[in-house]
Amino acid sequence: MSTSPASVIDGATHIHSGKVRDLYDLPDGRLLMVASDRISAFDFILDTTIPDKGEILTRMSLWWFDQLADLVPHHVLSTDVPEAVRGRAVICERLDMYPVECVARGYLTGSGLLDYLGTGEVCGIALPPGLEDGSRLPSPIFTPARKADLGEHDENVSYDAIVATLGAETAASLREVTLAVYERAEEIARGRGIIVADTKLELGRRRADPSSGSGRAGALVLADEVLTPDSSRFWPAAEWAPGRAQPSYDKQIVRNWLLSAASGWDRTSGEPPPPLPPEVVERTRARYLEAFEALTGERW
Ligand code: ATP
Ligand code: MG
Repeated sequence: MSTSPASVIDGATHIHSGKVRDLYDLPDGRLLMVASDRISAFDFILDTTIPDKGEILTRMSLWWFDQLADLVPHHVLSTDVPEAVRGRAVICERLDMYPVECVARGYLTGSGLLDYLGTGEVCGIALPPGLEDGSRLPSPIFTPARKADLGEHDENVSYDAIVATLGAETAASLREVTLAVYERAEEIARGRGIIVADTKLELGRRRADPSSGSGRAGALVLADEVLTPDSSRFWPAAEWAPGRAQPSYDKQIVRNWLLSAASGWDRTSGEPPPPLPPEVVERTRARYLEAFEALTGERW
């Protein structure tokens, strides 16, 4: 990850680095989004990278964009990217991003479960009593969150809060698209032995500028990455059993190790986590690959 696209692409300007992805402005107004091998846990970017993670997640996103193309347009314009970032970068349409994490949940866990246990609701949506960790919801729900600053947790908000910020029409479109995408993805993944418990989408608005892709300005466009283990909870369907934490295809191996005595790390210390041992790196990489191959049917 030492090669900076800015140094190899004429005129590319670095505009943003998130925990995992780096974003560059191209001279023609398009964006270059590069997925690194970085991994985050407990809101820290770890010192250790997971080999091939950026490419695995990029390929998985591209596969999903295809599966969803008839539901919502996506931001990818090309995968013809410079050699230095081949396989883990896409050229995409620059959108005006909506300042909301569009989350759909079909199963109860994580922050949704915590909210439910406290109030019986998730993001203002009342749920039936008696649900437990991993329970399937009567029907999928839209549980938006406000994007937090680096190092902070995203904050669940009510649908009404989204209406107040973005207006009723936009809020309704975001909810509709998010639920449609989730329902499609849940069904496809289930057929391949994976439960998509929940997922986070980032949606943007097509700009007026005609050089920024085809189609009408103002249209809702699916951006960022979609339905990867970084943005979603994937559970092996065969092992699903509500009432306990579910085994998952994401960073669970990393989180478990960091919380174990072996890591010597105290989560409450505020100190950054230690480097991961090679065995944890390898098992994590294998887990990402397993999800990729099961979903797409492709071999790595
Ligand atoms: P993190 O995910 O680590 O909490 P982050 O979301 O800011 O932080 P990344 O996900 O690594 O960082 O970077 C991707 C960034 O690019 C996000 O801010 C996302 O909203 C933005 N983005 C993705 N696609 C587009 C697009 N087509 N147009 C404009 N911005 C985009
Ligand atoms: Mg992000």
